[in-house]
Order: sequence, then structure tokens, then C-alpha cells
Amino acid sequence: MQTVDVVVIGAGPAGTVAASYLKKQGYEVTILEKEKFPRFQIGESLLPCCMEHLDESGLLDAVKERNFQKKTGAAFMRGEKRCEFFFSEQFTKGWTWTWQVKRADFDSTLAEATRAKGVDVNFECEVLKVTCSAEKQHVEYQDADGNVHEIESRFIIDSSGYGRVLPRLFDLSKPSAFSPRGAIFSHLEDKNRTEKASNNIFVHSFDNNKSWIWAIPFSDGSTSVGIVGDKEKITEMAENGGEAYKTFIREFADLNGRFKDADLKFEPKHILGYSIGVKKMYGEGFVLSGNSTEFLDPIFSSGVTFATASGLLSAKMTHKHLQGEAVDWETEYEKVIQQGINVFRSYVSGWYSGDFQTIVFTPHINEDIKNQICSVLAGYVWDQSNPFVKKHDTILPTLAKVIKIKERSIGDVASSESSAQ
Ligand code: FAD
Repeated sequence: MQTVDVVVIGAGPAGTVAASYLKKQGYEVTILEKEKFPRFQIGESLLPCCMEHLDESGLLDAVKERNFQKKTGAAFMRGEKRCEFFFSEQFTKGWTWTWQVKRADFDSTLAEATRAKGVDVNFECEVLKVTCSAEKQHVEYQDADGNVHEIESRFIIDSSGYGRVLPRLFDLSKPSAFSPRGAIFSHLEDKNRTEKASNNIFVHSFDNNKSWIWAIPFSDGSTSVGIVGDKEKITEMAENGGEAYKTFIREFADLNGRFKDADLKFEPKHILGYSIGVKKMYGEGFVLSGNSTEFLDPIFSSGVTFATASGLLSAKMTHKHLQGEAVDWETEYEKVIQQGINVFRSYVSGWYSGDFQTIVFTPHINEDIKNQICSVLAGYVWDQSNPFVKKHDTILPTLAKVIKIKERSIGDVASSESSAQ
């Protein structure tokens, strides 16, 4: 029986950040990863805040070497309306840029860099069974040849993403309050891309704020294009090899023919009902990180940043625990991660209610407000000095209401002036 200090389940961003950090502290760490890398994963637009986590875990330099597409902002559009955020113009002092990445390359880079640090990274090893206790954790996994192995550790970090290994085995999942949505996506040739479009994610809202399209450009000239909408709409779009998706992105007026003749790099993939919550993020002998905890919605590209944030914090808490210090997992871990999730929850609600669009598309937007919102969009959702973080649950609906009243009164003045003429 092999024995190590920490077993990490999953070699995505959460798992590799956690494992690299712990290796730096001198622990023996094993990652068990179900897939053979490189493998496709969705989640291609990063947020500046995640650069801090990559840096602290010692993975940033390896990613820098790959020359991924730089991302310096985010552009939101609805019909003729448009609002562009530049991460260089934000309230919180932090990173002003990040990358847009094909996850197959990005995750392989992280996994190889993690292995180079001395972490034992095992691909095609699927975790089947886990038993946890205060003293010792026991894991059963199956390799590519179907052989079952056992490994023991002092602690387990579950970073299994959509696999949700421990939430499944320990009945920790709970339904999300968001309505079930889905997404359909592919990578397309993007010959009509402008220089400016390369550095941004483009998000087009339509269908009365119920649906949206992302365009995420990569450094090789291709672009990821996805449509998000309610589950039924996406299911329909995915029928017959995604014909309706292909027609939509070629003809959708707001894309101005950008993908009119574009070839798809692969047949559209789709994913349904991804929003999910969690009852508890820790237990005796284990902690959850990344998508194993809660996943809200892709609209603000927050998934990888939450994965790296929670991967890093879970590793710090694990280090403290293994040093024999008492860890208050509720306040030192779960509440911290939940606080960031709650901020984004307000913004996701604000997106689908249309309050976010009301605020960003008003021609009267105040620059200070825009910079404060920009910091949230950059992932700095733990900065309590930002009123758009601190009052996240009330500020969007209140501000949207004020803007609507103001725009109505301007409209009333304009129409009374024109009728007086
Ligand atoms: P993952 O990246 O899922 O990694 C988990 C790993 O665990 C996988 O490699 C998996 O093979 C492995 N695993 C699973 N089960 C087992 C098992 N039994 N044994 C061993 N290994 C196992 N996020 C962004 O930041 N930007 C975006 O633009 C964005 N767009 C998105 C669009 C859509 C439509 C959706 C649904 C999500 C999007 N996300 C985005 C979210 C993003 O996909 C995730 O938040 C992110 O990948 C989570 O990282 P992770 O490390 O927690 O998990």
C-alpha cells in the first residue's frame, strides 16, 4: 500500500495549484487524474485575479512560456449597445491582464509544471472509492488497464471538477437556485477578427437577456464561440450535429458576419444543467476545491479563477492542518470561498434580470462606478473596500432602478421638448 501526505483528485487548475503549493511546503503529493492529457475542457477565458494564484503556487512562469492569447478586457454588447471594460482601469490594485486559453494546452502545461516540481501526477487513474477519517484517508482507483489500486494519505483535496467525486460519494451536492441552462460551443476560424477583438472576450446578450453568445479568441487565430440559453433551447440547437448552432452564429446580426464563412474546428459540443451547489466544502480528512464546490454560471468567466483561488486556499489550510495546527474550516475556508461565490451570484442574477445590462449600457455611466464593476469582472471579489463587492446583493438592483428612473425622466423631458416645438 502506497502512503503519501496528500492525495489530490483531478489535475485541472484547482488540483494542480493545490498540489504545487503543497509540494513547495515539502509534502509528498500524488494527483490521480481520470483522463489522458491533453483533453478538452470548457472554461477558456481567465480573469486577472487568477494570475496571483498561479504565481503563488509557482506555476505562472510555465504558463507565460506558452504565449497564450493576452486578454486585457471584456466587451458586452446588446444590439447597438456596447460597453467595454479595460482591466487597466479598475478600482482594486491588481493584475491588469490575463490569458484566453485552449484548456487542453493550458491544463497540460499546469500538469507538466506540477510534475516537474516533484508531484506524482498519474493520468488515466479514476478514483472510485474513498474512505475518510481523522487519522487516515483511503482511496481506491482504477488505471487504464482496469487494474484497481489503493493509496493512503493524511489528507485528500478533491479537485475533480464536474466529476464531483466526494460530493457524489458523500452526498454533499445540492441543487442550484439558478434555472437549468445549457451551452453549445465550438472553435472556429476567425479570419475577420480585428486586432482589438483579439484582446477581449466579446459577450452578446439577446433574447431579452435570457441568452448570450461568447467569442473568446485564441493566439492561433481561432476563436471559441458558444451560445448559452435555457436547457430546451440548447437541446434543440444541438440536434442534427448542431445545425441550428452553425446557422445561428453565421447569421446572427450582432456578430456582423464575423463567422459567416468560418469553418468549425470540431463538431459543436454541448453541456446542460451545469449549475450546482454544495452542502459543505470540507469534512474529516478532506476538503473540496474548484468545481467540486459550487458552480454558478459561465457568464462572467469566473470558474477557473475560483478553481485557482480555492485550490490555493485549500492547500494553505491543509498545510496548517498537517503542521498540527487547529484549522477552523468553516471560517477560514468555506466562508471565504462562499463570500466570493456570493458576490458573483449577485452579478449572475443581475445579468439574467437585465439589471447589469441596464447599468453598463447606460450612456450616463460614472467612471468610478465602472472601475469598481471592472474589479469584480477581473475577479477581485474579496476586496471589501469596493462598494460593488461589499454591497453586492443590493447595489445592482438599486442602481438599475435609479438609472431607469433617470432615463425615463430624460425621455419625458425630450418628448415634452419635441412636442412643444
Ligand atoms: P476541471 O477543470 O473540471 O478539472 C477536474 C479534473 O478532475 C478533470 O481533468 C477530470 O478529468 C478529473 N476527474 C473527474 N473525475 C475524476 C475521478 N473520478 N478520478 C480522477 N480524476 C477525476 N470558467 C472560466 O474561468 N472561464 C470561462 O470562460 C468559462 N466558460 C465556461 C463555459 C461553460 C459553458 C461552462 C459550463 C463552464 C465554464 N467555465 C469557465 C467554468 C470552468 O469550466 C470550470 O470552472 C473549471 O474548469 C473548474 O476547474 P477545476 O479544476 O475545478 O475542474
